[in-house]
Amino acid sequence: MATATRFRTLKDMPKEDYLSPGNTLCAGCGGILALRIFHKVLGPKVAWVNAAGCMTVSMSYPLSPLKSNWLYTAFASAPAGAQGVRDALDVLMAKGKLPASEDLKVVVVSGDGAAYDIGLQSTSGAIDRRLDFYYLCYDNEAYGNTGFQMSTSTPYGSSTKTTPATAAYPLGNTARKKDLFEVWRAMKAPYVATLANSHGLDFLRKVERGSEIKGPRLYIAFAACPTGWGFDTRNSVEIEKLAVQTGVWPLKESVNGAVRHTFVPRALIPVSDYLKTQERFNHLFEPSEKTEAIDAIQESVNVYWKEAGAREGFEVKLPGSSSR
Ligand code: SF4
Repeated sequence: MATATRFRTLKDMPKEDYLSPGNTLCAGCGGILALRIFHKVLGPKVAWVNAAGCMTVSMSYPLSPLKSNWLYTAFASAPAGAQGVRDALDVLMAKGKLPASEDLKVVVVSGDGAAYDIGLQSTSGAIDRRLDFYYLCYDNEAYGNTGFQMSTSTPYGSSTKTTPATAAYPLGNTARKKDLFEVWRAMKAPYVATLANSHGLDFLRKVERGSEIKGPRLYIAFAACPTGWGFDTRNSVEIEKLAVQTGVWPLKESVNGAVRHTFVPRALIPVSDYLKTQERFNHLFEPSEKTEAIDAIQESVNVYWKEAGAREGFEVKLPGSSSR
């Protein structure tokens, strides 16, 4: 794989925008920002294939802000839709009815509901067939479009509409977030990466690197969600940054199975600094602090970074459980 990049600083981000100003999504939505940056790197020749989610609402004809192509499919079947689009393009080019210069990049875009849960079966089929496509998952850690119900991406300790923090269930969700990165890696996808809008250069370079590879490519973009998470819309990028600095959201990539962390924090900030910024975790601090649960979250982050450091040969200074 080539190591040269056209992105040396953030100033190298392409100026062209493929989203018109204004859309029907919530102010401060991390998902649409991820889509916007992703599109800038891929350029104008893109066919988006969408599974139901927040983006669907915004792209409805005739109010779509998008300047490229959009195909809406059923919740479970966006990768199957992507196969159809890819095949159609290939057949048209083979018959000489579409010049190669007019070929499109086929990109599935969905939230975590489709990527982690409902669409995983068709995703597995597409990976197995080595379909040449990108999958951009904007991960807001719940079903945001329908009112913030729990998905298998929802983190431990988060309150959602279907896992509210109550007297009977004081922690809200107690399931652990599914590791979609590892699921795709186990299925031998050649490129898998995590993204955060707060780390723009890392974002740009990963989309560029993945573009050099043929086959199924997954990007999981951390998507701060002011409406579901409960924070001021102006803080989206700051909260994404905090997720990276606390180690809650590791930035990494896998190329043909080899994992590399693309940003290694020198010292992790305590996770409580991140949790306190969002109403979905309020019950961990009020009316009294649930020390055991917060320590459990910190411990799982610490274990992750210890193990990753041991594998890749780096060391991260970890906060202790009493460092809040
Ligand atoms: S609910 Fe969250 S992810 Fe959905 S549009 Fe609003 S901010 Fe974005």
